[in-house]
Amino acid sequence: MHIVVCIKQVPDSAQIRVHPVTNTIMRHGVPAIVNPYDLFSLEEALKLKDQFGGRITVLTMGPPQAEAALRKCISFGADDAILVTDRAFAGADTLATSYALAAAIEQIGKELAVDMVFAGKQTIDGDTAQVGPGIAKRLDLQLLTYVSKIESLDITRRQIVIQRRAEGGVQVLQTKLPALITMLEGTNEMRFATMENMFRAARHKIRIWDRVAAGIDDVGKIGLKGSPTVVSKVFAPKPNARSAEIIECESGEPRDLALTLTGKLFTQHPKLGEAIVKQAAA
Ligand SMILES: Cc1cc2nc3c(=O)[nH]c(=O)nc-3n(C[C@H](O)[C@H](O)[C@H](O)COP(=O)(O)OP(=O)(O)OC[C@H]3O[C@@H](n4cnc5c(N)ncnc54)[C@H](O)[C@@H]3O)c2cc1C
Repeated sequence: MHIVVCIKQVPDSAQIRVHPVTNTIMRHGVPAIVNPYDLFSLEEALKLKDQFGGRITVLTMGPPQAEAALRKCISFGADDAILVTDRAFAGADTLATSYALAAAIEQIGKELAVDMVFAGKQTIDGDTAQVGPGIAKRLDLQLLTYVSKIESLDITRRQIVIQRRAEGGVQVLQTKLPALITMLEGTNEMRFATMENMFRAARHKIRIWDRVAAGIDDVGKIGLKGSPTVVSKVFAPKPNARSAEIIECESGEPRDLALTLTGKLFTQHPKLGEAIVKQAAA
């Protein structure tokens, strides 16, 4: 079984600040990490490899320094890593990013057929959650998003059964491979890197692919040229002007407290009272 896991190097958002004047993100000096959501997918792929054997290739598109993120994934147990990097990719939106990654996965598949692709649910910087589905569409893979559990995998029949979080419940879905899966956060816990894998990661020769190696002929579909999205403005939302209010209640009795609170609530939100009366009458 051959699994490709797409990972993205992102700035550690816990340490990001927004510039008070320009409202742009201040990335300088912010450490880069593997997108945390991608680690849930990588761990799930590693669990499948533990169970069924096979090979895991991690893939990223990014600047040369993204190599560090790939090495981290090797230290967790991935077998191979490919960095797709080229000036021609600069300015890519999610459409162009998913195009480039899909092309690279096709190239990977020429070396060894790909049975499954994993991606994170979303990133913590771009946050669009579009790249995984974009790859699935381009490669005609069965798309399984928000997966909370892989119930079973039958490699011989190439069949997978998963649990997926949906609005109001959990869906159990069965489909055929090849599939693209995005794992839900909190579904597993990334294992520790073993000493052996850490040494392997340090020595591993990360494969660097430019546009041509990634199998891309049409430069009109990558980078800025292939990106119809225009970011017209970036701004930090205004902090909420309303602050907490201390409500005095003379008696301190729970009943009086509840009456004071509901009275206040209905005064501030008169429509709420009308809605409750309507619902009670129905
Ligand atoms: C007009 C425009 C211009 C842009 N220009 C640039 C630019 O010059 N430089 C730049 O760095 N960004 C640029 N971006 C941002 C870039 O488009 C996104 O970072 C990228 O498309 C991924 O989107 P996302 O972060 O929302 O990922 P999501 O869709 O939220 O990611 C979902 C999952 O897809 C996978 N994934 C996402 N991106 C990658 C990747 N690069 N490699 C491997 N797997 C991945 C991961 O598994 C991830 O968890 C630009 C965006 C726009 C709209």
